[in-house]
Amino acid sequence: MNVLVTGGAGYIGSHLIGVLASAGHNCTVYDNLATGHAEAIGDTKLVTGDISDTAALTAAMRENDIEAVIHLAAFIEAGESVEKPEKYFRNNTLGGLTLLEAMRASGVSKMVFSSTAAVYGRPGQIPIRETDRTEPINPYGSGKLCVEFMLRAFAEAYGMGFVALRYFNVAGAHPDGLIGEAHIPETHLIPLVLEVPLGKRESVKIFGDDYDTPDGTCIRDYIHVMDLSAAHVLAIEAVEAGGVKVFNLGNGEGFSVRQVIETCRAVTGHPIRAEVVDRRPGDPPSLVASSQNARDELGWRCEYPDLNTIVAHAWGWHKTHPNGYC
Ligand code: UDP
Repeated sequence: MNVLVTGGAGYIGSHLIGVLASAGHNCTVYDNLATGHAEAIGDTKLVTGDISDTAALTAAMRENDIEAVIHLAAFIEAGESVEKPEKYFRNNTLGGLTLLEAMRASGVSKMVFSSTAAVYGRPGQIPIRETDRTEPINPYGSGKLCVEFMLRAFAEAYGMGFVALRYFNVAGAHPDGLIGEAHIPETHLIPLVLEVPLGKRESVKIFGDDYDTPDGTCIRDYIHVMDLSAAHVLAIEAVEAGGVKVFNLGNGEGFSVRQVIETCRAVTGHPIRAEVVDRRPGDPPSLVASSQNARDELGWRCEYPDLNTIVAHAWGWHKTHPNGYC
């Protein structure tokens, strides 16, 4: 299939395009390079454009005979979305609508959408199932949920087909260590912890140790970026006209912030200093997925479910690229 990957030069996109190519798909990356890196996509075709630009999106789809879109382009910091909600609703939510309109104008009727565990807010039960209550507690989550509602409306009105993938905590790097996570600024736990053994920071901050969890720190479900990418290939083949399928993507096992830091100590052999600071606004105490539906309906299997492997692959990238792609 000819696939347009919006945000394809970002962390997830750069891993995904390799997996799509291995499965025989032909990718075009659409990215404004605000946070993405042209160096991360090798010789994959790049169209530089913004998700708010209807004309550029329409041209990219028409000129490349696009048959399906994988929509990753978004701002991703839940904490920042609490401080700057307009930034998130404009880019992620309005951007989603702009893309849907451009798809209609170009006759493209299939999309895989990168949604998030943040749509659940504070979950009523763990593990979280797709049918559980969605009550986001930050604008990042509510903005993504709005797009899910748009998908339903466009499926019903125009017969378009969608799969929404609700990511849990994506981590790790390509096992070859040549591409990996390179956010500026970095806000995600594992790369920040690894900055300590890299000598880039003195210590890592633990955002709150007074949550109602066994060690008081937040629990998350870490999923390897290569396994997450593989799910997109299955999803694009599972899109059906006139409907929206929703899948959680996680490992089904939760690790606390303290456990993640301990794993990083074991992998790197560095003592990694940690200090407890205030809670970060917008953080739910625990997010762990049931991904049974993705296993049953998409036939998804994780190749790298082990947190040690996830951290080891992340470390393989960071220690050889301490300044990312710079
Ligand atoms: N976290 C932390 N210190 C940091 C960065 C993150 O304690 O420097 C915590 C954060 O509060 C959350 C977990 O680590 O409980 C994962 O955060 P991350 O930003 O990686 O992903 P999110 O869960 O927000 O998508």
